[in-house]
Amino acid sequence: MHNNNKELTLSAPLSGPVLTLAKVPDPVFASGAMGDGIAIDPLNDTLHAPCAGVVVHVARTGHAITLRADNGAELLLHLGLDTVELQGEGFSMLVKEGARVSNGQPLLRYDLDRVAQQCKSLVSLMILTNSQDFQARPITLKSVKVGEPLLHIIRRQASGAQAEADLSGETFVGHIRIAHRGGLHARPAALIRQTAQGFKSKSQLHFAGKSAICDSLIGLMGLAVGEQDEVQVSCQGTDAEAALQALLIALSTALAEAPHAVAPAPVTRHNRTAEAGVLHGVCAAAGLVSGPLFRLNAISLPMDAGSHDPAQQLHALDTALTAVRSEIGSTLAQAKKHKHIDEEAIFAAHLALLEDPALLDAANASIDRGMAATHAWSQSIDQQCEVLAQLGSPLLAERANDLRDLKQRVLRALLGETWHYDVPAGAIVAAHELTPSDLLQLSQQGVAGLCMAEGGATSHVAILARGKGLPCMVALGSTLLDQQQGQAVVLDADSGRLELLPTAERLSQVRQAQLDHQQRRAEQQTQAHHPALTLDGLHIEVAANVASSAEAADALAHGADGVGLLRTEFLFVDRNTAPDEEEQRSAYQAVLDAMGEKSVIIRTIDVGGDKQLDYLPLPIEANPVLGLRGIRLAQVRPEILDQQLRALLHVSPLSRCRILLPMITEVEELLHIRQRLDALCSELGVSERPQLGVMIEVPAAALLAEQLAEHADFLSIGTNDLSQYTLAMDRDHAGLASRVDAMHPALLRLIAQTCAGAALHKRWVGVCGALASDPLATPVLIGLGVSELSVSPVQVGEIKDRVRHLDVAECRRISQSLLKLSSAAAVRHACHQQWPLS
Ligand code: PEP
Ligand code: MG
Repeated sequence: MHNNNKELTLSAPLSGPVLTLAKVPDPVFASGAMGDGIAIDPLNDTLHAPCAGVVVHVARTGHAITLRADNGAELLLHLGLDTVELQGEGFSMLVKEGARVSNGQPLLRYDLDRVAQQCKSLVSLMILTNSQDFQARPITLKSVKVGEPLLHIIRRQASGAQAEADLSGETFVGHIRIAHRGGLHARPAALIRQTAQGFKSKSQLHFAGKSAICDSLIGLMGLAVGEQDEVQVSCQGTDAEAALQALLIALSTALAEAPHAVAPAPVTRHNRTAEAGVLHGVCAAAGLVSGPLFRLNAISLPMDAGSHDPAQQLHALDTALTAVRSEIGSTLAQAKKHKHIDEEAIFAAHLALLEDPALLDAANASIDRGMAATHAWSQSIDQQCEVLAQLGSPLLAERANDLRDLKQRVLRALLGETWHYDVPAGAIVAAHELTPSDLLQLSQQGVAGLCMAEGGATSHVAILARGKGLPCMVALGSTLLDQQQGQAVVLDADSGRLELLPTAERLSQVRQAQLDHQQRRAEQQTQAHHPALTLDGLHIEVAANVASSAEAADALAHGADGVGLLRTEFLFVDRNTAPDEEEQRSAYQAVLDAMGEKSVIIRTIDVGGDKQLDYLPLPIEANPVLGLRGIRLAQVRPEILDQQLRALLHVSPLSRCRILLPMITEVEELLHIRQRLDALCSELGVSERPQLGVMIEVPAAALLAEQLAEHADFLSIGTNDLSQYTLAMDRDHAGLASRVDAMHPALLRLIAQTCAGAALHKRWVGVCGALASDPLATPVLIGLGVSELSVSPVQVGEIKDRVRHLDVAECRRISQSLLKLSSAAAVRHACHQQWPLS
């Protein structure tokens, strides 16, 4: 038997006839969507381990188990089809999560007759869930007995995706002009790669006599395709025609800039005439600050003598890459949560670069020759940076910075160094070149500004600095690195100057300007605890969106008038069992307690669709966001909602707790929950009724606002989903991100209609989607009739300040005219004119 780090032979876990996945009577398994694998129609009653490994997951309902083999392959062993519905009846699990098992060890016994009678089919599956890393080849398709060889697993080469491409079928070729601004740099290239990966065909781009497979970001960038250059696209495989169409569209649709991003600072290279004590550079993010200079050094490696054990070094590199992938994964999740579109796109590209065959192949080859993992990784990145530098495109040369970012991160992981700096708040950081991940850390530590010897104003780090309002200069030259640690400097990014020897007078002038700015912020913060009244005296409640009691406490400290949206999913996700009623009650109570005397709007669970919970199996759906999500869960699992309502009815005081229902589309759904609340109140002997509100996040609800308001106590507009469903654009679609803009006049019309419908029944309307946190939208929302804004906690002071400078009558008049505009961009432009941001 051939078992090593890369290859593994799996033995039959069951006895019976073998089927290919395509023959399995279940569309999801049959399509291979869960991964490669094989099926057996079992004749015995015990499932055995197909190899040695660790049990990484056991289904609560005992019908499935996941093993991780020693070479990293993950295998889902799933007994029967739709057996989850048996809720564990007839199954007995013989091992626990975390246990190490040997090849052939019995894992799960089941009652053959009983299960066969009650489920759709006994056909059982062995699925390789990380098929992107491994490939499965059946050894036999006849009947097998437990323990006989069944499936051969091979780790894919780094360029395995390529080898695996479906090459039967015709080749389709097309030509297209590149619409992406600046050409095919990392973010558009990542989009092209993602598009190509949606198809089985092998796709390539050809330009100026060179070709690159669409799987390789580096390969794509290496073509140095500029904006408006014409490229040839070729796709070969059974779905080649569709792949070609998709790629042509992706290449010819410009990746728009984020709508809310701060406008890029003008890229000005200032005259480098010598001026004593001043370094000239390029402004990447505007601002004027002073502070002590703080040098940041990159890791440098000692000479490597070579002769390392390749297996050990490969393992070390793999572990480091996994760690960095997971760090970037959490950065991405945060960016997504906070709707930082640029940040998300940049780190998604980093993740793709980390999987790039060009990088991995080169590093692995060096390791095979005895090089240390650190040096192999470093050298592989340096080679690719060199390639990018020689392309003659400044934009692509800047992308080398992203590679150097990954070099440093992986080196830190390999060397076991913590990836964390300690930089004093208020410092001006100087470095050869900072990377996007450096920037995220530094901005969290409260540094005042950034300057780099190298780098460009269109690099990712510059985009992030602008987004965070952190003054930043690049291309200051290597003299920057000779400066003394701790010396007081002035960073005047607006004028492209780093003043190394500022006079005391200059320092105090800059400090004063900084202080004025900080003071404005501080004033907003002190005023944040007072109610927000418009110039003509209308009170606008500025509440906060939170997802835990800690965030609620933070919101109160920032002056929130209440919690406008508690997303209760935080209690339900990332765990193996559902929270019981008491756990829920105490979590909701903690949020109420954290908010003093203020009210808290608690939204009932909004899972389903693509947010699946392990312990809450729901049908797999073709269109999850149009499926059983939000309040529709009550149709299929009423007991879950009942339990949550019971927990909510036990918090005290109930007068401060308001309940909000997600994804309502018709009045019936609201009336049904009202009835359930009444019934539960009687059952529990509760005489008081909490207020019950409805989220307006589907166009149908906005159009029916009048009817809903008749039965609801309040309405709260979820602009995130309302945008998705009104514009028919996935709110998480990377290529559409900048167009999913709730300032679209169609959405403003729905908001206006919601407020008009609510007014007929004297109900108030709030906004809890991301639009509420956008200061440009504040006058529009108030003008359309919104009286509560639920924003991110740190923005409470800023939004209250904005409210205090508005005149409602004027907001009403101008907002009506915005409804007649033809695009979100036109609305934003008009708002900038009418109500400039300070
Ligand atoms: C919304 O859709 O705007 C909303 C607030 O809900 P969520 O973002 O949780 O879907
Ligand atoms: Mg929503």
